[in-house]
Amino acid sequence: MPSPIRVTDFSRIVFFTGAGMSAESGVPTYRGKGGIWKEYDFESCACQEAFERDPDHVWEFHNYRRGLVRKCEPNEGHRLIARCEQVLPSVTVVTQNIDGLHQRAGSKRVHELHGSLWKLRCDRCGWRDEDFSAPVDDLLCPACKALAATTPRGTPVYKRPGIVWFGDSLSGSVVQASCQALDASDLMISIGTSAVVFPAAQLPVVAKRAGATLVEINPEDTPMSELYDHCMRSTATEALTELCQGLPSGS
Ligand code: NAD
Ligand code: ZN
Repeated sequence: MPSPIRVTDFSRIVFFTGAGMSAESGVPTYRGKGGIWKEYDFESCACQEAFERDPDHVWEFHNYRRGLVRKCEPNEGHRLIARCEQVLPSVTVVTQNIDGLHQRAGSKRVHELHGSLWKLRCDRCGWRDEDFSAPVDDLLCPACKALAATTPRGTPVYKRPGIVWFGDSLSGSVVQASCQALDASDLMISIGTSAVVFPAAQLPVVAKRAGATLVEINPEDTPMSELYDHCMRSTATEALTELCQGLPSGS
């Protein structure tokens, strides 16, 4: 049955996105068919302990992921969400994705709950960088390396991907900003998330409590489906095309 919901009938919208949002761009999801964790053992690739044990291996995996995502383009769904932000009063993206495709499509207000493939940091000295371009060949923090050259006790340390790995905590300020947007929303559209990874999976409850209308876009049922007012069992681009009917064109 066609959804009676149109984004143009709402003024404070939050798009809550997961890996399925980028599936039509060719970015592998985590679970299900083609899920990246079927191919890689995440315990040896995506946690702090693995990074301390074997940073080269962890970087090999992350450079592989950066390479995969660099070849992908934002899809029509990403573009529609960016257009909503241009032409509607208040639109926020809260994403579990680390691929940067929302920003590449033009979205400006994006909260990345799980960090970004394109952010790098050094946990020792606080150095940070955002580099969309090449693979990370020089794995050492440039600031610590410079210090190591001048002090006998300073040993250089590895740059760390700015991603929330297994066992890491989410950034308090990102969660707070996301909850604020959800608490103020009148429409929350969840797209392509299996809703089993906590605490992110719990965030739609904030919008529910605030009295927002909740829409779930996912070809499959999820453990959170019952929370939603409308479930659209289609892909991100198909469902967004329907919800965005009548949306004025952006600049
Ligand atoms: P997910 O892979 O768990 O779920 C993807 C969802 O997208 C599925 O429910 C699927 O039905 C749906 N989907 C597939 N194609 C779609 C399409 N074209 N349009 C709309 N929906 C589509 O991804 P997730 O929910 O984003 O995972 C949450 C978080 O879990 C991730 O951000 C990641 O940080 C974390 N994580 C999970 C694992 C793991 O599974 N062990 C590993 C690493 C990270
Ligand atoms: Zn450093």
